[in-house]
Amino acid sequence: MRVYIGLGSNLEQPQQQILTAIRDIEAIAGLELVAQSSLYHSPPMGPQDQPDYINAVVAVETELAPLAVLDALQYIEQSHGRVRKRHWGERTLDLDILLVDDRVVNETRLTVPHPGIAERAFVVYPLAEIAPDLTIPGKGKLADIKANCPLDGLKQLNESP
Ligand code: ATP
Ligand code: CA
Ligand code: CA
Repeated sequence: MRVYIGLGSNLEQPQQQILTAIRDIEAIAGLELVAQSSLYHSPPMGPQDQPDYINAVVAVETELAPLAVLDALQYIEQSHGRVRKRHWGERTLDLDILLVDDRVVNETRLTVPHPGIAERAFVVYPLAEIAPDLTIPGKGKLADIKANCPLDGLKQLNESP
């Protein structure tokens, strides 16, 4: 099973948060990192009185159940000191499951594809960097989505993680 994960951080050295989170994901037993995008810089979504974000997308191969992957990702968020403040507010680390193969999941704790996947430049562009040929269930071809997705201030950083 191929799982795509979106990463975001805008507190406490965001770039380091993302790089160490990728190492943490790699270290989960039963999960193999197969691709990682470069890092991106993006203005905040939602409340504007918060710092800009660093974002990235990674792909992993796993036989774990989607909810087990979510458990592991939420554990990593907690280990990065994530504190729940306000909706779409500042955070040390956000890990979202974007896609699980071409599966559709509608459970209380997990919606896949991630509902924001096709509208957010900070997801669409890094995802297209590592998987340009993807088709997103219910949304169509990623290449078409990207062609119609404004950058919204997104900037690709030079160095790959
Ligand atoms: P958004 O989901 O719009 O990006 P957010 O990332 O700020 O907002 P969180 O507060 O991190 O939202 O997550 C709230 C809940 O969303 C989590 O507790 C989790 O159970 C649920 N959730 C549903 N679908 C997913 C998914 N695909 N990936 C991660 N969490 C999900
Ligand atoms: Ca999110
Ligand atoms: Ca989240």
